[in-house]
Amino acid sequence: MREFAYQKAADVSGAVALLDADPEARFLAGGTNLVDLMKSGVERPTRLVDVRQLPLDRVESTPDGGLRIGATVTNSDLAVHPDVRRRYPMLAQALLAGASGQLRNMATVGGNLLQRTRCGYFTDLTKPCNKRTPGSGCPAIRGEHHNHAVLGASSHCVAVHPSDMAVALAALDAVVHFETADGPDALPIGWLYLPVDETPHRETALPPGALITHVSLPPAPVAARSRYRKVRERASYAFAIGSIAAALDVRDGVVHDVRLAYGAVASRPWRAQAAERVLAGASADAETFAAAADAELAAARPLAHNEYKVTLMRNLTVAVLSELAEEAGR
Ligand SMILES: Cc1cc2nc3c(=O)[nH]c(=O)nc-3n(C[C@H](O)[C@H](O)[C@H](O)COP(=O)(O)OP(=O)(O)OC[C@H]3O[C@@H](n4cnc5c(N)ncnc54)[C@H](O)[C@@H]3O)c2cc1C
Ligand code: SF4
Repeated sequence: MREFAYQKAADVSGAVALLDADPEARFLAGGTNLVDLMKSGVERPTRLVDVRQLPLDRVESTPDGGLRIGATVTNSDLAVHPDVRRRYPMLAQALLAGASGQLRNMATVGGNLLQRTRCGYFTDLTKPCNKRTPGSGCPAIRGEHHNHAVLGASSHCVAVHPSDMAVALAALDAVVHFETADGPDALPIGWLYLPVDETPHRETALPPGALITHVSLPPAPVAARSRYRKVRERASYAFAIGSIAAALDVRDGVVHDVRLAYGAVASRPWRAQAAERVLAGASADAETFAAAADAELAAARPLAHNEYKVTLMRNLTVAVLSELAEEAGR
């Protein structure tokens, strides 16, 4: 690990100025991903700008009935917040499905959104990797890829985004607010993560040195009946091999409103818009749910060893939507 400077930011503008002055510096939040990447040599910052003490640690209701979530709110605190549990249960469930209690106590909202992929080649400096070293190649395509992408990948990278929380935020139309030297700005989460294309090393549309300050959730009455279901290779403390965030409002047997996003299938949380279109106004039954999943997964391009994900996501979609529809009918 190479030497680096460490500095606590006094305020938001001070934090932004420090990164503006030194493009090789990085913000440090919980450190649960960044420090690991520094130990393996993937990240080699000159300076860490600690943002944990900034006043960005509050969860507040907004006048429109939404929620404003500070970037340094820990995953633990957010998961147990009464408004999150009541109004956006899929978000609380997604957070609790991630990592371990100790990690969630450290991990923050901003850091969770920007955590890097868990592709084994990415963290192995002895191997090529287009994401780490542009133009060096992608050994995962012909190598170990059983937990890689089936949607939206390219011949340059097939890695998946590892966050559980971000999948729920995608379904909830979250907006990510940030600050740069030019002032405050915001991106809908659907625009935050860039398509892979030929540039897998460019992961987000955030300007260089942007500090995420908070995430806002618009009001979403449909989310009161919602669920996050994660499938993993062991019962705890493991990343998803497939996950779904779903919210469903059924009236008189018909889908009145629906939100659907998939995790661990693409380089970003995958909003299942094709499925949502099939579901809107349709009969809330297993046949429709399967047709919706098929519509979404028609775009899947599995590799040799991850075709199982297409079946997994189809089954997850039908199972979770059926559960939500049944609860609505009680
Ligand atoms: C063993 C293990 C298991 C895990 N399992 C899961 C899992 O199942 N599901 C899951 O979703 N996650 C999992 N994680 C990942 C964990 O959730 C992330 O490491 C964590 O959320 C990152 O948050 P952090 O605050 O520690 O970020 P850091 O490590 O401090 O930072 C991560 C990145 O975000 C940047 N950053 C941080 N805050 C800001 C900000 N406000 N503005 C701009 N940039 C910022 C940093 O510069 C860095 O590039 C696991 C991690 C470990 C180590
Ligand atoms: S899938 Fe992406 S992260 Fe993994 S080796 Fe290929 S380029 Fe690198």
